[in-house]
This record gives sequence, C-alpha cells and structure tokens, in this order.
Amino acid sequence: MSPTNFDPAAALARSKHTFGEHGGANMSIEASTTFTVMKADTMPEIFAGHRTADRDGCFLYARHFNPTVHTLGHELAALEDTEPGYCCASGMAAISATILQLCGHGVSSNAVYGGTHAFLHEYLPQRTGVTTTFVDIADLRAVEAAIGPRTRVLYTETLSNPTLVVSDIAALAAIAHRHGVTLVVDNTFTPVLMTPHRLGADVVIHSLTKFVNGASDLVAGAVLGRADFIGRLMDLHQGSLMLLGPTMDPRAAFEVSMRLPHLPLRMAEHSRRAARLCARLEALEVPVRYPGLKSHPQHALMARQVNAGYGSGGLFTIDLGDRDRAYGFMEVLQNEHRFGFMAVSLGYAETLMSCSASSTSSELDDRSLRAAGIGPGLVRISIGYTGDLATREAQLEDALRRVGMIPR
Ligand code: PLP
Repeated sequence: MSPTNFDPAAALARSKHTFGEHGGANMSIEASTTFTVMKADTMPEIFAGHRTADRDGCFLYARHFNPTVHTLGHELAALEDTEPGYCCASGMAAISATILQLCGHGVSSNAVYGGTHAFLHEYLPQRTGVTTTFVDIADLRAVEAAIGPRTRVLYTETLSNPTLVVSDIAALAAIAHRHGVTLVVDNTFTPVLMTPHRLGADVVIHSLTKFVNGASDLVAGAVLGRADFIGRLMDLHQGSLMLLGPTMDPRAAFEVSMRLPHLPLRMAEHSRRAARLCARLEALEVPVRYPGLKSHPQHALMARQVNAGYGSGGLFTIDLGDRDRAYGFMEVLQNEHRFGFMAVSLGYAETLMSCSASSTSSELDDRSLRAAGIGPGLVRISIGYTGDLATREAQLEDALRRVGMIPR
C-alpha cells in the first residue's frame, strides 16, 4: 500500500478534539497521580482491565494511563495512522520497553542510533541472554537469512542514524511477516514525511525529543501500533511500560501536544533548506549524503515512501575524511558564523552538528563503525530554519573552503 495518498497534517488536525476543563481552546493538564472512583467496586474492575481509559474514561494511577498523556497518544496515533498509542519518558524508554515486551532474539539494522545499538549489542545479551544479529538493512537477502527460529523482532530506523540508509519498510514487513516476526520501526528522523505503519510496520517508535517536539527542551518518547500491543505494554502484571515505569509527565505531554499543529510546517521547511544546501554541496563536489539527492543510493525508494509535500527531511551528512578536519569545520561554523551548534540531537529550530563516530555513535566499536559505514570524519547535520538561507549557504561554503574541502 502506498502512503502517498495519506495527508498527515489533515489527520493531525482531525485528531484535535480535546478541550480544556472550562472549554479552553487547549486541553487542560491533568497533573493528578491518582484518580477517584464514585463506587468502591469500580476500582477492582479497573485493576482487572474490565474498565479502561479508552472505553470507559476510567483512570487509575498516573504510571498507568494519565488523561493528558493519553490524549497525546491519540494525536500521535492520528499522525502515524495507528490505533491509539502511548507515550513515555524518552525515546530510549520506548525502544527498550518495546523490545523487552516482544523479547526473543532479534535482527537489526547495523546502522542505528548508538544508544539503541548499545542496548541491543551489550545490555540485552549481558542482562538477559537475548541476542541480536546486525545486518545491512538495505540487503534484503541478508535480512531474511539472519532470521532464525527464535527471532521475534526485526528492528530498523526509517533513515538510519547517522548514515541515512533508507529502509524499504514494505519489503521488510513482508520478510518479517513471512517468519512471524514483529517489525519495529523508529520514525524519529521522518515524522510526517513517512508513515511506516501504512507500509506494514507493526510498531512505530518515536523519540519525541527530536523533530516532533522541535524545541530541544524536553525528553520524551512514544510507542504506536495496535491497541492490543499498547495494552500489553501497560499490563499491570506483564507490561514493560507499566512495570519498568518510564512514565511521561503530563506537563511534558501538554508541551508536545501544543507543538504538533506546526510539525508539518516545520518538517517542510527543514526539508526545503536541507535540499537547497545539499544541491549546492553536490555541485561543489563535496561528499554529501541526502536522500533527496538523486545520487543517494535509495533516492527512488525514498521518493516512493514519503508522503507528498514534505520533502526528504532535515538531515544530511558530509564526510570530511578525518576527525580533525570535521572538528575544524564545525568550529568555524559555530564559533565564527553562528551557523549552528556543535551539539548532539536533531530536529531543532537551530542547526545541530556532530561528528557521529566520536559522539552519538561512539557506543559502536571500530568494527561496528566500519560495518555501518560511519567514518571518523562523518559530520551529521540537522538543519534548522533560522536565518537567511543564502547567508547559510555562504557560511557553509566558507567553512568547507577553510578546511580545504573546496578550492579557495
Ligand atoms: N532514536 C533515534 C533515531 C535517535 O536519534 C535517538 C537519540 O538521539 C533515540 C532514538 C533516543 O531518544 P531519546 O534521547 O529521546 O531517548
């Protein structure tokens, strides 16, 4: 099924139906940690799961469902075209709770966020004996060959962090489902642009910390998929979100919800700017990687998978060859031009730049870095939308010239 007839902005707009307690245009923040019942025998019914938040508007305790967090889960579900999802304290909480819930052995893209890699490669096998086979996610034969009888999860990112390899979600879903495996897709890099559930992903993860919230001022995550899976995560006896307790604060849920209406506008602008800068970089013969460029190995796949009108995203990489040159390049951009910040994370109004091998992918050992194609001079850039674009282009060129990447 093609997602291109899906309009995430319209879906988001339709989901906005919660008014404040006094009829306010914004929803109220429900800050209570515990909830009353009018009749004592209602409480055991909630504990037994016979009365729920969705069906009966029954809430119990804020580590279980909270009304404000619950509303955000519904709004994100509209964006991702899933059944109602739920939110948690961070992207890593969403990832670890999902994988622990599904457990069994896994197959994962070899190029994923460093924290995810560390969780799958080190934490899980050492604490639980659950192992992961890492593969080149673009090599569909290798993916299928890595699935064994005990495999339960196939894990990938829509665009790999930081190498921007595009996952063929529909093909991966077909492989996973042939083997009774759950496909989990991290859509942190491409909210609005991609709707992995429409392509066959079973579970969609977000680090809301990034583009979705967009202000680099809070850490949050979300899990979206089928309602029965969310129910399992929140189960009082067996639920990873319920029992490990990475609960989202309702104040954070409110903040994120307030920023959802302009997420589509922001994504389109991140993309517009990234596309223009990358076209210029390519014309200058700088080793740039951006899925919106025809030179990207999966450009056609990207074009097929995205929802129309939001471009190819706000992230690109430049390979400067070695670490010193990468550091020099970022220092000129930050300290002389105020082009952006040398900082990890992504999806902010300002541009954020980091040298992946020595920052967000430093959890990977040298072998894993090589396998994932993360060179020592690879700089990941999350392009912001402040400042005049022509000035930004000139600043980028100047920094490249200063470190000898283009002739003076
Ligand atoms: N997924 C991706 C693709 C990320 O880049 C990150 C963090 O950078 C995470 C998940 C983890 O998110 P959080 O920092 O919100 O736990």
